[in-house]
Amino acid sequence: MRPEPLPPGSTIGIFGGGQLGRFLAMAASKLGFRTAIYAPEEDSPAFQVASQRWQSSYSDEDALARFAKACDVITFEFENVPAAALEIVTGHTSVRPAVRAAEIAQDRISEKRFLSGLGIATAPYAAIEGDDGLPAAASLLTQAGTGILKIAREGYDGKGQARVSSEVELRSAFLRFAAPCVLEGLVRFSTEISVIAVRSAGGDVFFYDCPENTHGEGILRRSAVPASCSRKQQAAAQEMTAHIAAALDYCGVLAVEFFVTPEGSSAPLLVNEIAPRVHNSGHWTMEACAISQFENHIRAIAGWPIGSAGRHSDAIMTNLIGEEALGWRVILEKDPGASLYLYGKSDIRAGRKLGHVTQISPRKKNEDNPHAV
Ligand code: AMP
Repeated sequence: MRPEPLPPGSTIGIFGGGQLGRFLAMAASKLGFRTAIYAPEEDSPAFQVASQRWQSSYSDEDALARFAKACDVITFEFENVPAAALEIVTGHTSVRPAVRAAEIAQDRISEKRFLSGLGIATAPYAAIEGDDGLPAAASLLTQAGTGILKIAREGYDGKGQARVSSEVELRSAFLRFAAPCVLEGLVRFSTEISVIAVRSAGGDVFFYDCPENTHGEGILRRSAVPASCSRKQQAAAQEMTAHIAAALDYCGVLAVEFFVTPEGSSAPLLVNEIAPRVHNSGHWTMEACAISQFENHIRAIAGWPIGSAGRHSDAIMTNLIGEEALGWRVILEKDPGASLYLYGKSDIRAGRKLGHVTQISPRKKNEDNPHAV
């Protein structure tokens, strides 16, 4: 059902105070909305740009209920908001996307089972919920040669992951994590891409062009459009994403990360991960598209018409991680066209995303892209 559009001046609540929440708040403010950020950390970057700051724990039921009553709609910038907190606010106001999307995506085991249920291919995996899951995981490891053990919950940016090549390594990593895990067989992919889709409350789906993503140590370093894989592969990834979004009755921006496997593989595309939110690999949409992923997420959850996801430029987005962010001045001096974002984080730690820079260039025609079909 299409909801009545929220009038300008309404308050949009956002769980999570990181850079994604910050960009969502900025996009909401462009459209005349007020924003309320709920986050436990005092120095949350999104607090700096929001109308209301709710610094509270996700287990503070009283604060959650008051927050919900102050918001006309609530969304989240990261999927690890405890499901119980999302359930509490659902009792008082609309939550978009629906809580189920977060519940599935915050647990790698339920995410894999959900995808398998839809007939969507993933890396080969074995769920290890306790010691009795180890034999099946060990036999998967024998077949795959190398695997990546990942904690089922709370892992992000390569944290809570270990590469393993023997049963001894598998057992010791599982012991170290001391939590339910998933073992994935190592995928020999040719590229990684993601789909950034936006689905309206009425069920219409729009896609940005797929960025090609480069990771280092499990952290996204760079996203570039156009991707080097074929248009046919991108369209297939988009179709799978639409299927996932429909199964979740999704509203808002949904990102799905894919491994593109070398030609001749039995499954050309494998889903790596679902992110029920705006995504780092879609930051370039702020410069290269008329309407960014952040604005379209806000429009979708507010019941407003979705804007064009069309791309007018080619783009390369590079994350500034740890001390790289200290080089902002050199970046700007070298390229006056570089669009720089610094997230307002005071603590410069290795492996922490502190900013990003996007460089755009005129869009090449499809025939200029040797990979396009
Ligand atoms: P994740 O946190 O699961 O998204 O993993 C971060 C990055 O690690 C991915 O984008 C890949 O570059 C790499 N990676 C994760 N899982 C696998 C896998 N099963 N096979 C190969 N590379 C992987």
